[in-house]
Amino acid sequence: MRIELALDIEPRLRTALHRAGSREIGGMLFAEQLAPARFRIIDFSLDPHSGSRTNFRRDPALHHAALTAFFDKTGRDFSRFNYLGEWHSHPSFPAQPSREDIDTMTDLVENGRSEITFALLLIVRLRFWMWMDYSMTAFAQGYPPHRARLANRII
Ligand SMILES: [Zn+2]
Repeated sequence: MRIELALDIEPRLRTALHRAGSREIGGMLFAEQLAPARFRIIDFSLDPHSGSRTNFRRDPALHHAALTAFFDKTGRDFSRFNYLGEWHSHPSFPAQPSREDIDTMTDLVENGRSEITFALLLIVRLRFWMWMDYSMTAFAQGYPPHRARLANRII
């Protein structure tokens, strides 16, 4: 699997992380599928108010609205433009998924009530106000989580 970031994504994430300080923030990742198993993250939603210092829980209503807005903006071309996963920050911890993060994402893809059978989890952390640490983990129904890397990291 190849994951790329559109050029404005990393600067936008950094700005959001600066503003949030020590609060965890996060949202959903939206992507364009470029080829089989090849995605470019072109947008993300941000819920700056649900996070606390150590935990992030997104507001379902707010994020449903963000998903609808993304679909409207991309002409409801779902096979090309769709939800790719979740992101959140770990301002006070390493940019690695916690046990709870892994459980939450596993539940998301394994849960029969949801249509989601594949989702990425991107965790980001600002270092020295500049550098952004990240981890990316792919969750797919019936498979153990596995690490993914960005194909076009600039910094
Ligand atoms: Zn986390």
